[in-house]
Amino acid sequence: MMRLAGKAAVITGAGVGIGRATAQLFAKEGAAVAVADLNPTTGQETVALIEAAGGKAFFVKADVSQAEDVEEMLRQAQSHFGRVDVLFNNAGIVKQGRVEDSSVEDWSAQIGTTLTSVFLGCKYAIPIMRAQGGGVLINMASVAGMMGIVNRAVYSAAKGGVIGLTRAIALDHAGEGIRCVYLSPATIETPSLTDRINSSPDPVEARKSFEARQPVGRLGRPDDVAYAALYLASDEASFLTGSGLTVDGGMAV
Ligand code: NAD
Repeated sequence: MMRLAGKAAVITGAGVGIGRATAQLFAKEGAAVAVADLNPTTGQETVALIEAAGGKAFFVKADVSQAEDVEEMLRQAQSHFGRVDVLFNNAGIVKQGRVEDSSVEDWSAQIGTTLTSVFLGCKYAIPIMRAQGGGVLINMASVAGMMGIVNRAVYSAAKGGVIGLTRAIALDHAGEGIRCVYLSPATIETPSLTDRINSSPDPVEARKSFEARQPVGRLGRPDDVAYAALYLASDEASFLTGSGLTVDGGMAV
């Protein structure tokens, strides 16, 4: 039995990395997937990969920091699939730096794409989910929202905000069959991370230091997070709301 049979999911930032891996896994487990991303090229590639494997998906271009885009993304998903059972607010960016190194523009971009996006996704999905009798909101946090990490001030603020917002939404909507949960990954080897490693002054040393932060001694893989998202999205997790799964190789223990 497929774990998401008959369900419809919307996944933001699904053009690459964790979002793409999750879109492919959800489709393999029977979900119809709306692949949302700012980048149509990579988003369409994710759709093609899902369709080639026999799954069902369509692409929707959306800037998750913009209210009208997020509202339209959910409207399109509902009109394609007739329902939205799962929204994975995954898209995000990483601004590195301490507070004094970060510009006001860095702050606004970080909060807009990583925290306002989650607020907007939940805001527009909740009425759809309530009307259909329930649904699951999965919000992408990070270990940076749970513990201090050097040189990630504005990123940590955004991810800590995601966790607080998730808990509040979970309580506000627990009686409506809507679950709201979060994921906190440590360092996951996605294309953006590989770029960051390769563009550092000493890529070998940079990789080693990322690996050393995680007690299991390796970077995470997009699938490590996708399988956690699959559990949260499935009916197997029906007693979980307001809580999160930490997918971190022991980093935040
Ligand atoms: P990534 O940077 O590899 O990909 C992000 C995707 O989001 C891209 O396809 C990009 O086009 C899209 N995107 C960026 N801005 C957007 C916008 N405004 N609207 C719509 N789409 C947009 O990301 P990733 O590494 O897979 O990370 C995904 C999420 O997981 C992010 O929220 C990130 O903060 C979080 N996270 C990642 C790691 C990690 O180590 N990779 C660790 C913890 C948390």
